[in-house]
Amino acid sequence: MITLNFVKAGLGDVDVLVVPVLPDGKAGVQLPAAISERLAFQLKQSDFSAKADELTTDFVTIDGRTIKLVFVGCGEKSEFTDDGLRATGARTYVGLGTVDKKSIGYFYDEKILSANSQLLLLEGLFLRNYFDSRYKTGDEAKKLQGKIIAQLTLVGNVPADVKKELQRLQVITDNVHLARTLTGMPAGELKPEDLANTAKSIVKENSNLEIKVLHKADLEKEGMNLLLAVNRGSAYEPRLIVMTLNAAKKEPPVVLVGKGITFDSGGYNLKPSGGMEVMHTDMAGAAAVIGAIKTLAELGFKRKVIGIVPATENLVSGDAYKPSDIITSHAGLTVEIGNTDAEGRLVLADALSYAQRFSPSVIIDLATLTGACMVALGERYAGIFSDQKDLIKQIQKAADISGDKVWPLPLDQAFKDKMKGKISDLNNLGPLDRLAGASTGAAFLSYFAGGRRWAHIDIAGPSHQSKELEAWNPPSGMTGYGVRLLVELVTEQL
Ligand SMILES: [Zn+2]
Repeated sequence: MITLNFVKAGLGDVDVLVVPVLPDGKAGVQLPAAISERLAFQLKQSDFSAKADELTTDFVTIDGRTIKLVFVGCGEKSEFTDDGLRATGARTYVGLGTVDKKSIGYFYDEKILSANSQLLLLEGLFLRNYFDSRYKTGDEAKKLQGKIIAQLTLVGNVPADVKKELQRLQVITDNVHLARTLTGMPAGELKPEDLANTAKSIVKENSNLEIKVLHKADLEKEGMNLLLAVNRGSAYEPRLIVMTLNAAKKEPPVVLVGKGITFDSGGYNLKPSGGMEVMHTDMAGAAAVIGAIKTLAELGFKRKVIGIVPATENLVSGDAYKPSDIITSHAGLTVEIGNTDAEGRLVLADALSYAQRFSPSVIIDLATLTGACMVALGERYAGIFSDQKDLIKQIQKAADISGDKVWPLPLDQAFKDKMKGKISDLNNLGPLDRLAGASTGAAFLSYFAGGRRWAHIDIAGPSHQSKELEAWNPPSGMTGYGVRLLVELVTEQL
């Protein structure tokens, strides 16, 4: 986690100072005169005009010490958007380049930017402050590690409520980073058991959390046959991970369910090359749920929340489940396997059905469920589906505030009817017409939601990005999508 220091007067031991600047050049009365002069020079003599995302550097010597200045253009206040400010913060991080990251300062002044604007800017910087160097060695590993800001000094008068909000941001972004790290782990390193161990170690650190992990024998006893069917091709046993925040509370809990397919080959409906390589990320829903539960625990959230992760690989073997198999689900409905690559909805179905015992007030599931959702909405938006319009609105509001984007897609009786089986109750693929695959996936899940308030969030698109689409994500890789959305949804909107 990035450590924050606060210096009210002077510049502390800062070697690099980031200063947000508006086009009018006002940088507040607190800025030391020598720095004001450099800023005035830059605005008058150079091309720098403080447009959004424009950065310029300069140097100043104060009391015999040379300080590098990074002036960050924020653009016109009238054009500010939340994501624009996050992007400015993220680009500031990138703009710092290879400077020594040990003594970086940020000039905090509410006369330049409001507290809210500065929090958004810093959120972008915190989120972008991430590199996955685990699988590099030697100099390159050191270079990547050197890019991380471990400490940031806020120079200026930071009010107590802003300090508190910064702490909250630190916790949230730290857990976005955790979700990225988990999602980025190769399948050989993160098997269902490892995911369960990660959850256990989080619970150990937080006294307000409890955990129950169901192993294969427990799942057999429970009759979680869809999860077990998907697992049959794998040499590693499945897990059902159940993390509970504030377990002693008697109230109906919020339940979060995250798809935890630690590798998806597609099964006998095998994925082609080019489609399989990133399938260790098919547990991004699980990573988001685990990250959100950890965040809620660390923030001391007082309500009862349960996170459920069905975890397994989907592989092929002599005993793997096959298209045309008919399996009796945990809920009792029979399911014909139309396609073994539609395994996410199978493990989620049993998890949603398992969740019923807690009499939840609401169930939210997050899953990298369908390529169809990505075709419809691209890589930045998750699709949301629910029978409850007010729940859709709550999720949209949480998305607007958190910056994890969503867009509603249809879920109606006609889609649900499409998922009925010919000789079984349901078919996991539905008709072969391939139309509206994101909606039919959601429609299949609806049979297992027990008629409760429930929403499905398809995160196939935003769980990872192949190039820079959102400035605060690593340019290529895992995004940790869903942690910010779930935390905002659970703490403020539900
Ligand atoms: Zn699949």
